[in-house]
Parts: sequence; structure tokens; C-alpha cells
Amino acid sequence: MLDHCELQEMRSAGAYYSWTNKVVRSRIDRAFIDSLWHETFDFTQVTYMANGLSDHTPLLAKPDDTGLQAKEKEQRERYIATLTSILSLLQQQSKMKWIQYGDEGSRLLFAKAKQRKLATYIYTIKDDSGNRVEGFEPVGQGCTDPSRWDWQGAPTYKLGKGYKWQLKVQRHVNWTKLVWARTVIPRHSFIAWILINHRLPTRSRLSKFQHLSTTLCPLCNAVEEDENHLFLTCHYAQTLWTSLQQWWPVPLATDINSLVHKIRRIKAAPAKNRITYAIFTAIVYYIWRAQN
Ligand SMILES: [Zn+2]
Repeated sequence: MLDHCELQEMRSAGAYYSWTNKVVRSRIDRAFIDSLWHETFDFTQVTYMANGLSDHTPLLAKPDDTGLQAKEKEQRERYIATLTSILSLLQQQSKMKWIQYGDEGSRLLFAKAKQRKLATYIYTIKDDSGNRVEGFEPVGQGCTDPSRWDWQGAPTYKLGKGYKWQLKVQRHVNWTKLVWARTVIPRHSFIAWILINHRLPTRSRLSKFQHLSTTLCPLCNAVEEDENHLFLTCHYAQTLWTSLQQWWPVPLATDINSLVHKIRRIKAAPAKNRITYAIFTAIVYYIWRAQN
């Protein structure tokens, strides 16, 4: 094949082997030249260089022609110069774009900031006679005169008052602390809260909405199960409340409302009261659990 193509191996210098896998070494890379090469260059040789990234060594064919070498050097320098110019041009272009887009970005940012700021300004307002005045100047005039500003009968607007006003009228109950005290376990709170609102589905209450085979209390099977019976007057509840008296005094009553009222009227240290609330709600919870 080599003979057919009239090729000869080039004279070489440097390492003998051109490839290694760190165990086997082999000269599998060779440089071949034809007659035209011989005609063009007087004396050339290929250098087997040190291998770098590849497991093959690079082969460097260097014609022994100083003129050509100089030309090559010149071309190489020209290539590097061109490449550097292109790169710096691209860098400059991207820098320009960056500045351009950056400017646009900050313009947008400032516009947004201005918009947000504007949203907090009052630009129009209704005056005393109900006419709408517009512009910062008239609004400012309206606001600087305290006699013209009246909110809920007060010259100043208080955040807390405004909040309550937004919530409309709230029902005030005296048992809030009893049900929602820190000491009370949430699931106990929930049952006690429904009980105090008289919404627990006792048999007596359920029978108003649906037919029940019996409305008798499941704990004693003797009296109709309404909330006062189940939680206070039933034998089961009575036992609980009275045995409780031995270690923690809780008022006794025959209906829920008066019991709540009595508990709320206990004069004791707040911490002690919170324990009473926790006990009350716990008993309510466990009676309800026993019934169900
Ligand atoms: Zn009962």
C-alpha cells in the first residue's frame, strides 16, 4: 500500500514510541511523505513530542526552510492578532449591550419604584361638601386642617380602631379566656366552645332535627340527654365534679350558663384561674367522649 502510493516514512527525532496506555508502548503514529514533498523541501524531519492530553504524542513536521519558517511565524502571529481582535470586538459588543440593557433595566426599576410610591399618595379626596378635589395641593390643604378631618369622632386615625372598624361590630363574651386560655388543650377548647354556644349535638338537640329512637342519656338511661343533664346533673357528671372538689375546687351549678358565670367570677391569681379553665374544659371534653 505504501509502495503503491509511493510513500516513505519521514525521518524522525524525539521519542521513539508515539502511544502508550501506561503499560504498552507502541509507535502507531507515523509520518509519511511523497515525492512532491521531497521536491519542495530539501531536508525535513518529524519530531515526536511529549504527549499531553491525548495518549498519542503529537508529531511535528518541520521543514528545514528558514524562509518558510519565517512565513509560518508571520502567519501565526497574524492569526493570533486577528483572533485577539475578534475576541476584544465581541467583548466590547457584549459590554455595550450589557450597559444598554442594564440602563433599560434600571429605568424600569425606577419607574416601578415611582409607581409604588405613587400608590401610597392620596391624589384625590372628597371634601366636606362631598366634592372630589384632585391634586396634591388641594388634598394637602384638606389634610392640614384638623377641623376638617373627623374619623369616628376623633381627629386622628388610630390603626387599632381602624382594624376594629373594618371587622364591624364584634360580639363580646365573658368566657373567651375560659375557653381559649393558654393552658387549655385545643381539642378541649373546641368542645367547650361549642358547649358554651349551646351547639353540641346532644340527643335532646338532635331530636329537634331528626327522629331518634331514644333521647335518654346513654350514661344513665334515665333522663333526657340535654347539655345541662349530660354535663352537670347526670350521675356520671356529678361523680366527676364532686370527686374533683377534693383536689381542685370548681364551682358547682345545674346549668351551663351559671357554671360558666361562676367560674369567671372566681377571684384568684391569673395562673390559678388558667388551671381552673383547663380542668373545666378537660372535664367537658371527657364527659362528651364518654357519651359518644
Ligand atoms: Zn345521664
